[in-house]
Amino acid sequence: MTEVFVLRLSHRKDRDKRVTTHCALVARAFLAKKIYYTGDKDEKFEKKVMDVARRWGGPFEIEYVKDWKKLIKNFDGIKVHLTMYGTPLNKKIDEIKQANKILVIIGSEKVPGIAYELADYNISITTQPHSEIAALAIFLDRVFEGKEFDHEFSNAKVKIIPQEKGKKVISLSQQPRKKSTQ
Ligand code: SAM
Repeated sequence: MTEVFVLRLSHRKDRDKRVTTHCALVARAFLAKKIYYTGDKDEKFEKKVMDVARRWGGPFEIEYVKDWKKLIKNFDGIKVHLTMYGTPLNKKIDEIKQANKILVIIGSEKVPGIAYELADYNISITTQPHSEIAALAIFLDRVFEGKEFDHEFSNAKVKIIPQEKGKKVISLSQQPRKKSTQ
């Protein structure tokens, strides 16, 4: 299976904490291996995401990077920058899916021009402005062709048993942990 890594540019600790956390949670849930981030180092964000990964299963990693240009240059796979100005995903997805390793780059504030140059592909998920969270989710779903729906996370401590109504979460180490009918 293709290995996907995410690079989140320009994290601003105060402004972006929820959005960057959601990017990381989407990356994990939609089967990316790891998220790198640049901008402000944020231990709270790292802890929050890794707490989720420990509880809901893994493996998943987070790494803060100072020199993101170096990371992109040295990455030994294809580099895909998601931007509304790029080539529509539908035109390139078959080509992109052939890669063994993909680095997906997503921005927050204005993305420096060099990112467009360093990327092998600049890809739009519609040519309308929206969000890095949505763009990342759609991109990963297309790369993995929906496999995230059936994925069982290794070493999970809890697991949801889907219900038509209400919530059922079981503990994988002991007996059913929580049951409610909300
Ligand atoms: N204004 C910024 C710029 O000009 O680079 C982009 C801000 S946008 C809120 C943050 C990120 O969401 C972008 O860097 C891009 O990765 C992603 N994004 C937003 N809309 C997108 C789209 N239609 N297609 C692909 N990515 C998109």
